[in-house]
Amino acid sequence: MIEIERALSMILERARPRAAERLGLDQSLGRVLAEEVISDIDSPPYDKALMDGYAVVASDLRGGRDELIVVDEVAAGDMPCEPLQSGMATRIMTGAPVPRGADAIVVDECCQLDQAGGIKTVRIDDRGVRPSQNILGRGRSVRRGEPVFQVGRRLSAIDAGLLAEVGRTQVLIHPAPRVAVLPTGSELVPACDVPGPGQIRNSNGPMLCALVSSAGGQPVDLGIARDTESELAHQMNLGLQEDILILSGGVSSGDFDLVPRVLRDLGVEQVFHGVRLKPGRPLWFGVLSHAKGSRLVFGLPGNPVSGLVCFELFVRPAITALAALPQKSRPTIAARLSVPFRHTGDRPTYFPVGLVSDGDRTLARLLDWKGSADLRTLACADGLAQFPAGRSEYASNETVQVMLLERGLFGN
Ligand code: AMP
Ligand code: MG
Repeated sequence: MIEIERALSMILERARPRAAERLGLDQSLGRVLAEEVISDIDSPPYDKALMDGYAVVASDLRGGRDELIVVDEVAAGDMPCEPLQSGMATRIMTGAPVPRGADAIVVDECCQLDQAGGIKTVRIDDRGVRPSQNILGRGRSVRRGEPVFQVGRRLSAIDAGLLAEVGRTQVLIHPAPRVAVLPTGSELVPACDVPGPGQIRNSNGPMLCALVSSAGGQPVDLGIARDTESELAHQMNLGLQEDILILSGGVSSGDFDLVPRVLRDLGVEQVFHGVRLKPGRPLWFGVLSHAKGSRLVFGLPGNPVSGLVCFELFVRPAITALAALPQKSRPTIAARLSVPFRHTGDRPTYFPVGLVSDGDRTLARLLDWKGSADLRTLACADGLAQFPAGRSEYASNETVQVMLLERGLFGN
């Protein structure tokens, strides 16, 4: 057995960012940019009206004139025909190009159109018109040739919009790591089936796929493999095509815990088996050298809660590294225990807790957890309280660190 920190560093030493690829904006969300992005145009490309109203010469109105002749009308997508001269106005819609000679837009609310006698005039009730009012000048947002994003930026939805604005349909990014998920166990049936005698539903598969997505990976659901060498080898071979293969179950010391042996037969080199951790001790980790870059393989214990803890401590950081994202430790808060806690003290222990606010402090309520298979209780947890090894007794009111779960972050 190795310590948690040692296990994590052995994983991260082997987790290299995926090579950057030129991909469409539809795949850019959350990805890390591997190039500088430069604008190919001035944006906006023309002086642009920001409101519906009338384009005017501001000095006309400040000089006391309040009635202007309407000489043109321009909508978004049109080009103005007439340059504007003193005494004139152009009806203009939001997004349309401002005519030459105009330097302000007066909003509709301050304008009254008069069409009497076939001549259109507009009376303007605004003496405070300033030059540039309601106009975004050409290139005011971004200049042609100007960098808009640097290498290393994690792209957001807004960024996708700005990339399109500066002419990019594709960008060089580190793609989402592809993560195969393969639960193993002859007792497992898919969620759509009613379990027969001795069977349970595969809850780890959907949970792990969702965790992979939440970590920025692209899950590849491989269904279920029963505990036979041939079926495991067949399914594992599919999973070894991906950047990461996550297995669940079959890594302990039972007669049908075949996963480590089959992985070794497939050429996956074991890096470690066993971590000083509760729950999650049987964790297996190995690497397959592959022409297209090495594959990381995690054998998580089958118990759902053990699998979750191992995912958060070890798999999530690996996905983060392959995605070229900076490592961030999981959000952790200090909370006081609402009741005493006792554990064996031989391994660092993670225990599910609900968090309750009590004035200016946070209370950690230990859940009535019925062992590491108890997903039902875990679904009520806001976080996992951390109890280091070496001490087994904790009094109520003592402060502990609580690693927040996703649910805790969203607060639902
Ligand atoms: P194992 O690690 O294979 O010894 O499995 C440990 C426990 O987790 C057993 O009680 C299994 O039935 C349960 N288990 C294994 N795989 C899954 C799964 N995919 N979904 C739900 N429970 C599982
Ligand atoms: Mg099993």
